[in-house]
Amino acid sequence: MMLLSDLPSPNGAESLSAAPRRRQPGVSRWSRSAYASVRSPRSVGGRTRLEGKRCVVEIKTKGEIEAIRAAGQVVAETLDSVRAHALAGTRLSELDDLARAVLKRAGAQSPFLGYKPAFAPVPFPAVICASVNDAALHGIPGRRCLAAGDLVSIDCGAILDGWVADAATSFTVGPPGADDERLIGAATAALRAGIGAAVAGARIGDISAAIGAVGRAAGYGINTDFGGHGVGRTMHESPSVPNEGAPGRGMMLRPGLVVAIEPWFIAGGNDKYQIDDDGWTIRSADGSRTAHVEHTIAVTADGPVVLTAP
Ligand code: MG
Ligand code: MG
Repeated sequence: MMLLSDLPSPNGAESLSAAPRRRQPGVSRWSRSAYASVRSPRSVGGRTRLEGKRCVVEIKTKGEIEAIRAAGQVVAETLDSVRAHALAGTRLSELDDLARAVLKRAGAQSPFLGYKPAFAPVPFPAVICASVNDAALHGIPGRRCLAAGDLVSIDCGAILDGWVADAATSFTVGPPGADDERLIGAATAALRAGIGAAVAGARIGDISAAIGAVGRAAGYGINTDFGGHGVGRTMHESPSVPNEGAPGRGMMLRPGLVVAIEPWFIAGGNDKYQIDDDGWTIRSADGSRTAHVEHTIAVTADGPVVLTAP
């Protein structure tokens, strides 16, 4: 395993859960609208330093947001199906097969399958990330069979009519133990807090701070190398939405901004992670369990709208 501390900071664009900032192009090629001066939030305890960088952020029309919502419904359906079939004895590859079938039936494609960011040795070979126990992100769904008590994080995306949505959920196989219930509950509460902070006139740093406050209050580790990101015609767009940051900092949110918000917490309280030899799977460095939840949301004049809820 190699330490990932030198990977591109997430917030962005190239990982399945967030794009490493360092590798994120400053300008989105296909972007057609709002040119924003982006002063990204500083990470309170991490390495993220994007201040002063400028990038183009696409502001979506109402029709485009509805198109992303349609993709989001496919993601929600896929995650529901996978969760319902994630029973003891089920192979992770079977869950991927199931997800492929749901996407196909909906006429959707996967933004995960074949995705190859610069740091990855091979294209991602599946349509879901299936990360179990100490694996937090980017787990490749292989032959492993689930066992009772496993803590599973499933990440999924869909492309429908050219628009992308991205979401993730964490759950246990069978009833959760108290520690897992608390961890998943905190990640879910952080997602809710982050979404609640995504109001017009607030800033990216307000989302980051809301997420980070929940995780830190619970004593969990947070690493900002991978986090939320803009979503649209591609899976990872500007701006980055780190899972920790300073309130009042970063780009101002405006109606039409669509982002994925995706807290992931490390139960042991250590912020470090490592990556498997497969070049993809990200695990807690201390071996403790992790949880990862995500929704794609739109900032609107009437408040944040979740686009990947069933
Ligand atoms: Mg995702
Ligand atoms: Mg994501």
